[in-house]
Amino acid sequence: MNDRCFKCGGKLEKKETRIEKWVNDKLIVIEHVPVFECVECGERYFDADTSLKLDEYFYEKKPVKTIEVPVFEYKES
Ligand SMILES: [Zn+2]
Repeated sequence: MNDRCFKCGGKLEKKETRIEKWVNDKLIVIEHVPVFECVECGERYFDADTSLKLDEYFYEKKPVKTIEVPVFEYKES
């Protein structure tokens, strides 16, 4: 993993994030995902292993829990 930001050359710091992604009309949430964040511009990078694992979660793994999400339709008033 490159330890410098591709955009600005800033230092990357390892953090954890939560990923939300729509897959086949379902919202999938993955918590505690390791991410490298640029301390200068805030750009975020995932390393190759993490990206591969994320794909597994999106398409293969069984979730640990399912939550209900309220959905609203925005209307101009
Ligand atoms: Zn940067």
